[in-house]
Amino acid sequence: MQSLIKDYVVKYLGGSGAEVPLEALDDSAVIDDIVFKSDSHTVKPLFFPGGDIGRLAVAGTVNDIAVMGADPLALSTGFIIEEGFPLDDFERILKSMQAACLEAGVYVLTGDTKVMERGALDKIVINTSGIGRRSPWLDKNLEEVRRHRTLNSRWLLDSNLAPGDRIIVSGTIGDHGIAVLSSREGYGFETDVRSDVAPLNLLMKEILKVGGVVKVKDPTRGGLANTLNEWSEKSRTGIIVSEEAIPIKRGVRVACEMLGIDPLEVGNEGKLVIASIPDKAEKILEVLRAFPVGREASIIGEASSEFRGVVLHTAVGGRRIILPPIGDPVPRIC
Ligand code: MG
Repeated sequence: MQSLIKDYVVKYLGGSGAEVPLEALDDSAVIDDIVFKSDSHTVKPLFFPGGDIGRLAVAGTVNDIAVMGADPLALSTGFIIEEGFPLDDFERILKSMQAACLEAGVYVLTGDTKVMERGALDKIVINTSGIGRRSPWLDKNLEEVRRHRTLNSRWLLDSNLAPGDRIIVSGTIGDHGIAVLSSREGYGFETDVRSDVAPLNLLMKEILKVGGVVKVKDPTRGGLANTLNEWSEKSRTGIIVSEEAIPIKRGVRVACEMLGIDPLEVGNEGKLVIASIPDKAEKILEVLRAFPVGREASIIGEASSEFRGVVLHTAVGGRRIILPPIGDPVPRIC
């Protein structure tokens, strides 16, 4: 997927000169003070424990806009529907999107609906795009960072980290991927594990108010392993995290062990990974824990000049290199 994007899409469509362009491959793009994002959703099954494709389509785009340091304003939706798709299911999806929009404080302002002949696609594909406006809290937040060190960027970017920055996760990882996989394949783990899919823009706003945040990311495809590797590569710093500090639900841990999947590589849809200056990490943790979705938030490590790449301190006292996931251990979860 990475080389498909870099070697083909970026090759022909990059080069806009936007402040954060396509080729930055960050969570969203930035043009003037507008943050812009598009995301298509092909999750299978459409309805899974804890959510559905509609909630996912809203939350995914809202979160990608929010993590750049912007307030999501409006969405567009494109529905591509297979002929014969039950109207009851479509209505259920729309109701779920409506509820998620209400939760996030955004509206769908425009969209498009197409029907394709039976067999041309698998039930339904939903694209959501969205725009956001630069958060009024972003400048103050970045000033706080600059009181401690240099930072040239005007936005929260993957390339913003520096050694010493703390890494925080807002809760347990792997829930979404395992919930979807388990309900699709009938493994039965979903009795314990539900998807975490949720819009996080309001939580994001509270974190920005604390100040000292250098980057936030929603660890979706490729999970925490992918997020940390993107940060490490684009910021040219090592990152070290502690296995014991990474919150993982028992059900997710058991499922991953049985299926031979690394929970660090499993996608999430309702979590934030936050990099902040050391002085603010505890305060951010406190703010996160005040929210139900952030109750299990944890400081898991820090950026470090001692290493290149991402290193995990294992629970038994060893060290393991965390590579960017090759392929997708859990396909079609978003
Ligand atoms: Mg993202």
